Amino acid sequence: MDFEIQAHPSPLGDEARHEILSNPGFGDHFTDHMVTIDWTADLDAQAAAVASGDFLNIQGHWHNARLEPFGPISMSPASAVLHYGQEIFEGLKAYRHADGSIWTFRPEANAARLNRSARRLALPQLPEEAFLEAIRLLVAHDHQWVPDGDGESLYLRPFMIATEEFLGVRPSRTVSFRVIASPAGNYFGGELKPVSIWVSRDYARAGVGGTGVAKCGGNYAASLAPQLEAAARGHAQVLFLDPLHDNSIEELGGMNVFFVFADGRLVTPELTGTILEGVTRSSVLQIARDHGHTVEERRITLDEWKTGVASGEITEVFACGTAAVITPIGAVQDGEEIIESPAGDHAATLKIRKELLDLQTGRGEDRHQWMHRLV
Ligand SMILES: *Cc1c(COP(=O)(O)O)cnc(C)c1O
Repeated sequence: MDFEIQAHPSPLGDEARHEILSNPGFGDHFTDHMVTIDWTADLDAQAAAVASGDFLNIQGHWHNARLEPFGPISMSPASAVLHYGQEIFEGLKAYRHADGSIWTFRPEANAARLNRSARRLALPQLPEEAFLEAIRLLVAHDHQWVPDGDGESLYLRPFMIATEEFLGVRPSRTVSFRVIASPAGNYFGGELKPVSIWVSRDYARAGVGGTGVAKCGGNYAASLAPQLEAAARGHAQVLFLDPLHDNSIEELGGMNVFFVFADGRLVTPELTGTILEGVTRSSVLQIARDHGHTVEERRITLDEWKTGVASGEITEVFACGTAAVITPIGAVQDGEEIIESPAGDHAATLKIRKELLDLQTGRGEDRHQWMHRLV
């Protein structure tokens, strides 16, 4: 795919950019450019796909690939995404290494997940090479925006939206894929301190057969009310359960959950179709295996969490995701009941976290060829 390059005529000056990079926050500032690729459906090919039995293999062609100045998107107020939420996204980071080179972590996994999400939301498949090239181009042009401080990175946000001007309910026949980038500091701010979380009893983020397995904006919209409830109770994050079955642990609104057992086992909820499969989750599973932990992907209930902590069987609990990397969970509140995590030193959590961060920032050995050079 050929990308047309429309460089920004007046990118932000060095001084203003340095000011932003001195305290980037998260998601507050955006780089000078964005990448866009448009898509148009091919109805004849779609009819053939339906006839062949794969009606979710949405047919069409990608065109008008371009790098352009970051700025407002012009679209019809009747665009499908604004009414029916046909949208998916990804999140990954670019890291500056000591020699100045810039790398990202397992981008093929994000490209593959974008396409799994696309199928669920009846959006088209984007070729992996187009995904990787879009990211590479954006970071190459905005390389000065990649911070080099400890725990800092350039957060990349690829997303796909339904742009057709049409209020009928069916998949949009025009779509655009975009990538924007935002310098990121430490997600929870400052030093690594355990977060406290709130068990959502009144709300779920995903239901059986729903879109929990896809990374789509709608899941996040559904998580905002419980997030407000958690904040009102003084907690940083929400824990979602599977209330239909046995209160098994699902995940946080944007992070997967792990338990460390005293005998060295590492347990995380199995993928049920309502849990989002994190790239960090799968990397933690591999790193834990490398460290000699036994890893289990299985059902784990809130009751097992309570009794495990009480008996000393569970020694650490942590959450993981690209944005916040790995964060110890200090306490969980369920109604009026509070389960404190054991007051240990989070040794296993911190060891896995360090290995992951060292790898991403170029200080560790890349045993699994997870790093992908961008610049
Ligand atoms: C993105 C996301 C995660 C974490 O995925 P990573 O690939 O590790 O960043 C976990 N849960 C939900 C609901 C998410 O949207």
